[in-house]
Amino acid sequence: MEGFYNVKGDTWCIDLKHTLIGIYKINKNDVVMLDSGICFGNKTNYVIDMLESENLNVKAIIATHGHFDHIGNNKKIVEKYNCKVYMYGAEAYMGKDTNSIKFERTPLPFKEIENIADCLINNVNVFIKPNENSIEVYGKKFDIIHTPGHSKSHIVIITPDNIAMLGDAVMTTDEIEKTKIPYAANFLVDFDTKKKLLSLNCDKYIISHKGIRDDISYDVNNNIDYIQRRAKAILSCIKQNMSYDDIVASVIKNMSINIDSRFTFSDIYGMIAPYVQYLEETERLKVIYDNGYIRYNC
Ligand SMILES: [Zn+2]
Repeated sequence: MEGFYNVKGDTWCIDLKHTLIGIYKINKNDVVMLDSGICFGNKTNYVIDMLESENLNVKAIIATHGHFDHIGNNKKIVEKYNCKVYMYGAEAYMGKDTNSIKFERTPLPFKEIENIADCLINNVNVFIKPNENSIEVYGKKFDIIHTPGHSKSHIVIITPDNIAMLGDAVMTTDEIEKTKIPYAANFLVDFDTKKKLLSLNCDKYIISHKGIRDDISYDVNNNIDYIQRRAKAILSCIKQNMSYDDIVASVIKNMSINIDSRFTFSDIYGMIAPYVQYLEETERLKVIYDNGYIRYNC
């Protein structure tokens, strides 16, 4: 299978350059995908071309979470293979339809994201429940580990080969260190989840960004350490009495972050918020209310 990497047994990976997606073969031709990858450019055709080159037929997609680089090809793949999509929690509903995306991207006017809205529609038809720790998909059992932190409803999926698809619950050390502002929806929750993953006893671990590991302790410890250092870097951008908007402007300037569109600005604006929350939760920022503004002090 050219372009496919065998992880173990029936568990395979496809490398989409920035992201690994998982493939579990339930028989010679039928597969379950673990995430569907990013939708931009010609990548959608790339994934489908890869599947077609091996006469593979997608029966289901189980998604780790609802970010566009993990569910971006859901719509195209569902259209082509009429497969089922399994997702959990808030993220299963987030991209339910165009209106749900409008709520999610407040206050961006919809026209700003119209061209990517299609990629964010996740086509879920099987909603994994909060107390569900495994699901059966076409006679195969996949364990589900609830791993909130990177996103609200992130899950880790363990294939019948005892291979964990970690999604974005962990990044490889190489990849995270290329990222100025690694993201988690809440860092204290994310750190707890990362540490919890150390107790898994899987044969291998697929990390979406990006690698396959026998052991994740090195990456987990480095992820936490690196994020803590980035939090300190953000703290160093915060001067007395800054509002949240002042902090964002200061981080963008001091870290030389390139803003090429309102959409990019909106993403960065949202990505800095969990750091400010983390710095306050770890008592390195104090907050005062001042005449219509929240102001931060170190
Ligand atoms: Zn993500």
